[in-house]
Amino acid sequence: MSSYDYDLFVIGGGSGGVRSARLAAAMGKKVAIAEEYRYGGTCVIRGCVPKKLFVYASQYPEHFEDAEGFGWSVGESHFDWKKLVAAKDREITRLEGLYRKGLDNAGADIFESRAELVDAHTVRLTALDKNVTAERILIAVGGTPNPHEALPGHELCISSNEAFHLEELPKSIIVAGGGYIAVEFANIFHGLGVETTLVYRGNEILRNFDNDMRAGLQKAMEAKGIRIVLRDVFETINETDDGLLVAHTRAGEKLVAGQIMLALGRDPNTKGLGLENAGVEVDHKGAIVVDEYSRSNIPSIFAIGDVTDRVQLTPVAIHEAMCFIETEFKGNPTSPDHDLIPTAVFSQPEIGTVGLSEEMAAEKYDELEVYRAEFRPMKATLSGRDEKTIMKLIVNAADRKVVGAHILGHEAGEMAQLLGITLKAGCTKDDFDRTMAVHPTASEELVTMYSPSYRVKNGERV
Ligand code: NDP
Repeated sequence: MSSYDYDLFVIGGGSGGVRSARLAAAMGKKVAIAEEYRYGGTCVIRGCVPKKLFVYASQYPEHFEDAEGFGWSVGESHFDWKKLVAAKDREITRLEGLYRKGLDNAGADIFESRAELVDAHTVRLTALDKNVTAERILIAVGGTPNPHEALPGHELCISSNEAFHLEELPKSIIVAGGGYIAVEFANIFHGLGVETTLVYRGNEILRNFDNDMRAGLQKAMEAKGIRIVLRDVFETINETDDGLLVAHTRAGEKLVAGQIMLALGRDPNTKGLGLENAGVEVDHKGAIVVDEYSRSNIPSIFAIGDVTDRVQLTPVAIHEAMCFIETEFKGNPTSPDHDLIPTAVFSQPEIGTVGLSEEMAAEKYDELEVYRAEFRPMKATLSGRDEKTIMKLIVNAADRKVVGAHILGHEAGEMAQLLGITLKAGCTKDDFDRTMAVHPTASEELVTMYSPSYRVKNGERV
């Protein structure tokens, strides 16, 4: 009989924490989980899920416009922000309930409290003023938006957290950053009718994505009417007497808007967690340092998900949770596989991607075959919408393996999921070539690009 209160104590009720607690409890382990905000974590409560609902909402104006080309006359339309937020909140509450139910059914003890480490086996539940002990402690507290404290006036800005609960939709917004969140929200706000400006310090949005995707999306966003200010950053933010915000930039621009949103990356949520009480090592960003089995430097303490700053994605946290359970409770050491993770940016149009960009592949392999198609999607022929889909396969010429697949266009995220299987399976371009097309679809291009568009030899396009 263990001398601890629990076999496993999980701190953090997000995707990774809930999965770990549920699986361990279902095995008959004595498990507790603590969450200080809402069960479901960033993804469910104020991340991926409500974001995607907002993406759907923001697409309707284009649907209404496109309808005309197909013979429909759509009457006057009106958007009600409060109604959207309320509907989104109902869905999030339903999902939160499912997360709790899963934990409950598995037999885990559920605490609504902040939990902080007291020592290597003890956790303090601050809301209950109570200590509990556990043989193993799993930290899955996720991340939090980078507040950019060095920016004078940063406290006047919102982050993605607040964007989900704005009292009113602003008439205009400036979004800072060029990553997933900035790009997705710039598209959401623009689609909902907000005058939107994106300010990014780099040369082109979405660093590390394939250059064709970056350029194609940037062009599409600008064509829709999103202003993109590049190679610039905020120097100060001020508020005017009539409640508007003014951003002065390093390049000397003065930008005025109803709201300013910072989307400058996310920091590990380790502040005040008591890690030093247990001697848990963190890196310069405050992320918990773990080995390939998600073990911290303290044998009884483990960490998964965004708090470890490996790959900040929900499915990765869930995968790390399952590997943790296999390793610690099933006697089957399993380390998370972070290779070839398919991902999507829910911009408009979407980007779906897996594997290496052309630029990264060119650094790694001597010779590449690049297959590229750019075309007008079928729906746009009648809607008259000026838009392009881009598809790209990057093939290592030496063994014909497809090492990168990139799509800009409708449902690119859905396609990236399936392409992820083919790359994971090690499919070659010949496998793609002998696959029958599904006609008429956009994705048939992926199996009908028979000749390379160009080659890249020793980093040079030929
Ligand atoms: P990202 O890391 O994607 O992007 C951060 C952006 O902020 C970059 O463009 C970066 O510029 C810029 N930046 C950082 N610091 C500064 C600074 N001091 N001044 C100016 N610009 C700065 O982070 P996000 O916040 O967009 O998203 C966090 C994570 O959440 C992502 O890594 C992603 O994994 C995950 N996520 C995934 C989604 C999905 O799967 N669809 C959706 C939303 C989030 P630079 O490029 O120059 O470094």
